Amino acid sequence: MSRSGVRVPYLAPVKMAGVDQWLDQQIVILWVAGSSPVSCPSLKLERTKTVSVIDALLDLQDVDGRVMEFEKELKHLPARKAHEMAGLNGASAEVKAAEAVLEQYEDRIKAYEAEAEELRKKKDELKRAQLSLKTNKEYQQFSIQIDQIDHEIDTLENNILATTDRLPSANEAIAKAKAEYDAQKSVVDAHVAEFDERIAYVESELAVAKAERGEKEKLVSDPSFLLAYERLRTRRWPVVSPLTDEGVCDGCNLQQPPSVAQLVKINAKNAAEGKPMRVVACNVCGRILYA
Ligand SMILES: [Zn+2]
Repeated sequence: MSRSGVRVPYLAPVKMAGVDQWLDQQIVILWVAGSSPVSCPSLKLERTKTVSVIDALLDLQDVDGRVMEFEKELKHLPARKAHEMAGLNGASAEVKAAEAVLEQYEDRIKAYEAEAEELRKKKDELKRAQLSLKTNKEYQQFSIQIDQIDHEIDTLENNILATTDRLPSANEAIAKAKAEYDAQKSVVDAHVAEFDERIAYVESELAVAKAERGEKEKLVSDPSFLLAYERLRTRRWPVVSPLTDEGVCDGCNLQQPPSVAQLVKINAKNAAEGKPMRVVACNVCGRILYA
């Protein structure tokens, strides 16, 4: 039984009354000495009879490998999605900064207008008071003050105009920043949708794999193998490793003593003959070894 070459789980030899049979789920090929194999498509035999405990364990390990990959991906997908969404932060900040500039100009204009309004009121008061003045000198002093106020109002009005002139470019900057944000957002939205789709897919595949795991676990006929496998599963991966022809554990790449290689050989022979097998573990990493 070799696991390192092409794997043929549905095909296994059995001995029956001097006739060699190769069984699989669909066909049975029969032959006797000196004749060609003959297929017999109508006969179906159960696969479980010919699957060794190592085969069943490797099937379980395949499913567990998938479960782990899906779980690992599910663990990382939300963070990757959040990172993708955070990519919009820069463009969003640009929009806010452009809006802040406009707001600043508008506030400045309001402040100039309020100040000018105050000065106009003051000017009106001075003008009213000027009517009741007794002397020319006093009248002239008020006129000077009124002129000064007029000058200040002119300055404020010029400031209002100059700031108002800046509003179109501030609005343009906002529109440009918003367009850039929208362009980036449509790309991000598409990626986020892909992430959501992937998350949903992985979740459903994980559920399928977990259900499959339950079935595969039942097919491991020897509890001692299952126990050894479960003990190691969180610490070593893969748990079930081939012993190479050179007697090296494929999991940790360390040489095994001849006694281990001998036990693995006996296991392989027993598996081929449908006899019970024993758990053979790597002397270094503890992985379950097979040949
Ligand atoms: Zn090892």
